[in-house]
Amino acid sequence: MRTRAIVLAAALLCPAAARAESGGQLCQEAGLSGDCLDVKRKLAQTGRPSGKEPAPEPGAACPQDWRKSRRGGCWIETKTYSGNAEQAFVHPKGWVVDQRCLRDKRFSRSDLMNGLDKAWRKMSPAVSVGQGGCLSHFNPWWGKELVDAVWEKNMHLACPEFDPGDSSCADRGTRDAYVVDDKGFTTRLADGINLLSLRNVGRCLGPGGTGLAGVVFHESLHAAGADNFSTQKHNKAWDLEQYVFVRNRVYAAEAVCFFGTDPGRRQLANILQCRATVEYHADDPRQHLCEGFGTSFTDLPAGFIKH
Ligand SMILES: [Zn+2]
Repeated sequence: MRTRAIVLAAALLCPAAARAESGGQLCQEAGLSGDCLDVKRKLAQTGRPSGKEPAPEPGAACPQDWRKSRRGGCWIETKTYSGNAEQAFVHPKGWVVDQRCLRDKRFSRSDLMNGLDKAWRKMSPAVSVGQGGCLSHFNPWWGKELVDAVWEKNMHLACPEFDPGDSSCADRGTRDAYVVDDKGFTTRLADGINLLSLRNVGRCLGPGGTGLAGVVFHESLHAAGADNFSTQKHNKAWDLEQYVFVRNRVYAAEAVCFFGTDPGRRQLANILQCRATVEYHADDPRQHLCEGFGTSFTDLPAGFIKH
């Protein structure tokens, strides 16, 4: 798995290599069966989604190599949140979830689990648009990078006390992280922890918005390094001219994946946002996928701007 991931990363960094790959080869090297880029075939293979994730049961401990073996749906001990060792839930798709999030009054535990699952489906190169996917259609190379990044970039979801007057729904910060091996040696993880904090998230949960899934998707893109604007410019999004804002890759992908996959709401995603999404990492971007996207950009759903 590790070797395959490195092979794909090399392909992404080297456009010439990516061009030489057929879809099937790319998928195989990415550790996915068949031609994961073939959306129609995937739809026939996967059938309907399996429904809601079961609510997590505290206490089922993850195996020691949970991150490497990509085993979630279990609990780990972490000092990330309070500084003291405490239990946190590992979502089946790799996000570590603060137990405070599972007790949060602003959303139910199943809302949160479904939101994480929905965010993952939007990213996955193997989930078709008909199954709730997005990047499998618009940019499967980026999608593959993102689903790997959830496991590999230590994405920890936090639900700290928040200021109801805070204008931000959520943000992404970093923490140093350490692991202790079997012999008791402590090693500092090179990348640290990406802390995705839900703050005044109620602002972003209104009707017509992108919901918890949109918040997690957006902050995970930051954590995966997808930004093309400086943090300062990104966080002043409401001050930007619209022709500038629509080129912001993180907001663009969120708009495309949450509005652009729905024919009834496609006009909410601008054609330049679609282009920003299909072009990232793609040597030969599929610009034709952006036909039918909006050419004006005036009405943002309430709560779309989130930091
Ligand atoms: Zn942001």
